[in-house]
Amino acid sequence: DAGLHLHGVHKRHPNGLLALQDVTLDVAPGEFVALLGPSGCGKSTVLRLAAGLEAASDGRVDTPATRADPRAQAGAAETAFVFQEPTLMPWACCFDNVWLPLRLAGRSRAQAEPDVMRELRAVGLGDFAGAYPHELSGGMRMRASIARALVTRPRVLLMDEPFAALDEFTRQKLNADLLAWWAAHRLTVLFVTHSVYEAVFLSQRVLVMSGRPGRIVAEHRVPEPAARD
Ligand code: ADP
Ligand code: ADP
Repeated sequence: DAGLHLHGVHKRHPNGLLALQDVTLDVAPGEFVALLGPSGCGKSTVLRLAAGLEAASDGRVDTPATRADPRAQAGAAETAFVFQEPTLMPWACCFDNVWLPLRLAGRSRAQAEPDVMRELRAVGLGDFAGAYPHELSGGMRMRASIARALVTRPRVLLMDEPFAALDEFTRQKLNADLLAWWAAHRLTVLFVTHSVYEAVFLSQRVLVMSGRPGRIVAEHRVPEPAARD
């Protein structure tokens, strides 16, 4: 399934530091879960394990990324990762940045165009396909990064403090956009943040991490608030 399952996971870094201790979490397919905690408690480590970018030292990690057959090209596209900083190629325009994952999968510019433009329009950048990253605001660069993550139509979205570098106004706008988009598409989302406000606004369930080594210390189900409508 498109769920994320970590069971009894320990992560020790090569330098000996124990970053995670006995972390167990499940994100159901289509669920939006926030991972909340102070910096250094291991939130990014959990995301990298779920993305299959790192291996656990002990325990079980069962996600589409770790299950995917490395020989099957389709597997890689099931999981998208959005980092804290927009990671656009500065020498390429918005269109070419968003085209990249499709290009790597063998799609020509013309073949990719409908999907690239669909994603750019979805994040409000339909008129900026030819713009270069330095011509855009921070919020627009982050939206282009999200478009690039979603252009392959992944089933799982892993986001590591994607809006942390933005001003509060832009952050709230992008939070609202993301929530509306998730309500329409219902991907599985694991969203790392150190903002209680953001965690509660966006997610259905908040997992609180703390300590060094990090562990999950609390879990809160967020009631469906009328205020969201
Ligand atoms: P968070 O995302 O909550 O800020 P991280 O997952 O980035 O926390 O880091 C958890 C702990 O692991 C921190 O103490 C960090 O310094 C350490 N750490 C992260 N990556 C590495 C690494 N590659 N080698 C050694 N220590 C690391
Ligand atoms: P964001 O909310 O994405 O950070 P801003 O608040 O900086 O964007 O800008 C608000 C709007 O102004 C943008 O959505 C965009 O339509 C327009 N805009 C911002 N920067 C530029 C630019 N370099 N060129 C053209 N239009 C821009």
